[in-house]
Amino acid sequence: MNAPVRTQTETPATDFARRHVGPSPRDVEVMVEAVGAKNLEALIGEVIPPSIRLARPLALPAALSETEALARMREIAAQNQVFVSLIGQGYHGTVLPPVIQRNVLENPAWYTAYTPYQPEISQGRLEALMTFQTMVADLTGLPIANASLLDEATAAAEAMTLARRAAKSKAAGFFVDRNVHPQTLAVLETRAAPLGISLVVGDPDKNLEPEAVFGALLQYPDTFGAVRDPRAVIEKVHAAGGIAVMAADPLALVLLVPPGELGCDVAIGSTQRFGVPMGFGGPHAAYMAVRKGLERTMPGRLVGLSVDSRGNPAYRLALQTREQHIRREKATSNICTAQVLLAVIAAMYAVHHGPEGLIEIARRVHRHAAVLAAGLRRLGVTPLAGAIFDTVTVPVGDRQADILSRAREARINLREIPAGIAGPEAAIGIALDETTGEAVIEAVWRAFSGGGALRYDEVAGTADPRLPPGLVRTSAFLEHPVFHKYRSETEMMRYLRKLSDRDLALDRAMIPLGSCTMKLNATAEMMPITWPEFSSLHPFVPAEQAKGYALLADELSRMLAEITGYDAVSLQPNAGSQGEYAGLLAIRAYHASRGEEHRTVCLIPASAHGTNPASATMAGMTVVVVGCDRDGNIDLADLRAKAAAHAEKLACAMITYPSTHGVFEEAIREMCETVHANGGQVYLDGANLNAQVGLARLGDYGGDVSHINLHKTFCIPHGGGGPGMGPIGVKAHLAPFLPGDASRPGATGAVSAAPLGSASILPISTMYVLMMGEAGLRRATEVAILSANYVAKRLAPYFPVLYRNGKGRVAHECIVDPRALKESTGTTVDDIAKRLIDYGFHAPTVSFPVAGTLMIEPTESESKAELDRFVAAMIAIRKEISAIEEGRMEVGASPLRHAPHTVHDLADDDWSRPYKRAEGCFPDGVDRLDKYFAPVNRIDAVYGDRHLVCACPPVSAYGG
Ligand SMILES: *Cc1c(COP(=O)(O)O)cnc(C)c1O
Repeated sequence: MNAPVRTQTETPATDFARRHVGPSPRDVEVMVEAVGAKNLEALIGEVIPPSIRLARPLALPAALSETEALARMREIAAQNQVFVSLIGQGYHGTVLPPVIQRNVLENPAWYTAYTPYQPEISQGRLEALMTFQTMVADLTGLPIANASLLDEATAAAEAMTLARRAAKSKAAGFFVDRNVHPQTLAVLETRAAPLGISLVVGDPDKNLEPEAVFGALLQYPDTFGAVRDPRAVIEKVHAAGGIAVMAADPLALVLLVPPGELGCDVAIGSTQRFGVPMGFGGPHAAYMAVRKGLERTMPGRLVGLSVDSRGNPAYRLALQTREQHIRREKATSNICTAQVLLAVIAAMYAVHHGPEGLIEIARRVHRHAAVLAAGLRRLGVTPLAGAIFDTVTVPVGDRQADILSRAREARINLREIPAGIAGPEAAIGIALDETTGEAVIEAVWRAFSGGGALRYDEVAGTADPRLPPGLVRTSAFLEHPVFHKYRSETEMMRYLRKLSDRDLALDRAMIPLGSCTMKLNATAEMMPITWPEFSSLHPFVPAEQAKGYALLADELSRMLAEITGYDAVSLQPNAGSQGEYAGLLAIRAYHASRGEEHRTVCLIPASAHGTNPASATMAGMTVVVVGCDRDGNIDLADLRAKAAAHAEKLACAMITYPSTHGVFEEAIREMCETVHANGGQVYLDGANLNAQVGLARLGDYGGDVSHINLHKTFCIPHGGGGPGMGPIGVKAHLAPFLPGDASRPGATGAVSAAPLGSASILPISTMYVLMMGEAGLRRATEVAILSANYVAKRLAPYFPVLYRNGKGRVAHECIVDPRALKESTGTTVDDIAKRLIDYGFHAPTVSFPVAGTLMIEPTESESKAELDRFVAAMIAIRKEISAIEEGRMEVGASPLRHAPHTVHDLADDDWSRPYKRAEGCFPDGVDRLDKYFAPVNRIDAVYGDRHLVCACPPVSAYGG
């Protein structure tokens, strides 16, 4: 990229950077003074060790204004060509109902929310996710579904490992229907290898030897469209003590006997075609549903029902302690960020249509497919025998190229299936969807006939849309009232508004979550994602139709490489956890390429994010924990000792930098050198990149590979728990080991279903970098550091601040420690977190990385006024704790313990607490006009886990 290099300037040139950064230049001066630094540069000098400081400005294109950047994105988008894609293979055209597009996908109340770990302020999205789970459970006929997985292929891999854990059979193999989607098989192969699972791929009716496998994956309908009865195969798998998994299309399940009724144990799939645009591969919500008894081994998040302190029903994430944050190296899955926003959209699609609407859509698609097949027969070609739902596969032999190219002339993509895959002959696949009209079907016929036209009406009468009697669904689904109440758009709009009003997202207040970087997700960044040129592309269109995406990926990769100091970037991993996994696989493959496959030990400091050890375990590595010293730094002596002790088998160390404690450890270069000297590679977890963009580069001070969370530093909104993107950067020697895909097989296999992961959200990060430019990005980093130090400085008289560097500084986040107050008063960190809700804030990160503490990351986007409001709330809370210390209040009766306060408290006629209602509901400084009320009181976590209810409860459960 021959872009002009921007020279160092004091303030960024563009209007956008000024707006992205919250504090004004004058505020920055005041804050610098408050932290006792000479100027901003001097502060940065005290925070970032000179030994790692980047000595030159990043070579990035000059900053563009919002208008200019949007124009640039238009140019890129124009290089994508939007054809009708009937390729299928797990991705289908769909109609995102405009009421959902405008009120969910384009609504910051939904897309800027955080993962619902603070359930009292997340009831709206938790209800939406419960609706998603109910929808999946109903459609699959299995009782328990989780709240989304990353994509269908990784969901299949998660099901495989679940099967290994849960099966009675201790066989080493896993059977895979050879007619699963190719990308599903590719990801399964990647995942199986490091775990020592041998995949047996074949025809389930012919090649399955149940004794040799702990489970089997079948696909229903299969990738070529066939609907086969799996009952006999499932029985065989069960008889040998195995687990039966089915990948199933949720729209097909509207008409077909669902997996649960067929005896299957686990169902997985994608809910993409429930209103979520194809987006060149993602993001979409995958699903997993299981039979009773398997819920506690299920990966991902599960929304459950509990009760609040007034006994009212309330949603929360169930079994939270089983998440990887706790399980670490015992983890069985590394899923953290998932696909919440997309699960909400899919659920609302079902709410919007209801069962009768889904049946109508499914029947229409099915009838169209039957008519399409009848027409093809008239044209003298014979589709594969057997029942189908929406996909017709036709052997065509050497006519394939002509037919495909004639279809393309009509701007229609069909699936190209090489000879020997769906039969001896080359074939063409045609998958229909809810957007397919009669004209498209007629055009497909023309592509086959090469001339003479068939009319839809003529053929329709001769079609036979019957499904095999034994596989016709008779059971009801989506009977819950939520799927019946919102047929008018007015009602639907209000329902979406009602749910989002229950939640506290970034559109209301600062979300100071340490390690999560909840910064501005600017509107201009979001706008391109719904342009059809980005949203409507199938991931497997011919390359010439996706030149815009190729350009986008290339530009973003180059900019990320420059920002991180790496030589090559893969955009495939669709979450930070997946980036970790891909990076560790690259390390494994690199060692293997040098004849050192025995290098499998991964050193991980005790303070690491839970996904680190989980990913290492999944990559087949042995985790060895390195201690931390009192100051939260990695214990260098311990690192040296462990690296030396394991030198023979050392694969790598995984180090988060700056540390999860929010400190730039001075010894980072030494740590990296130690690992290298013992033959290991260095994985630097780049999730905290927001502390160093423009100031230091991971690749310059010792990293061999890092993931970068685009949903943190690079402005992809958190979506209530996804989507995310976790690309990895690598040094040149690891570049050959980046993930491959079907079109570009590599030494390392695919880690996501789609080659570019969640491609359609890449414009967000690209827009951010384009609009910020070098100076803007650097300014953002500097202000992020300043803001954290400002908050630390202002809070220090009230709460001890843990882990500063030698100069008394923190990096981009700070940990405040109320543990002594728990000792002296009984006030818990949860009391503080919940009391912050009364002040209108989302709590900071609770108990990570240090139990009992709060980690605050303000980010550069929060204004000084908002930082001050937050600090004032923390100080006011400290005073409430003082009242307990001084014996004026008893902790159990205090507003802290009763927080959050709700309208139920406000209207409580039996108020007998030792503080006033107004004190509870409108604490100091809270504006009554703008007061946010949590809809429920404090939620009982234990109750929820003991009484696991994870589908929509009957309305009667809600009482009055
Ligand atoms: C957020 C985070 C991760 C995991 O990223 P996901 O996208 O949620 O999978 C890993 N490491 C650190 C330090 C993080 O903060």
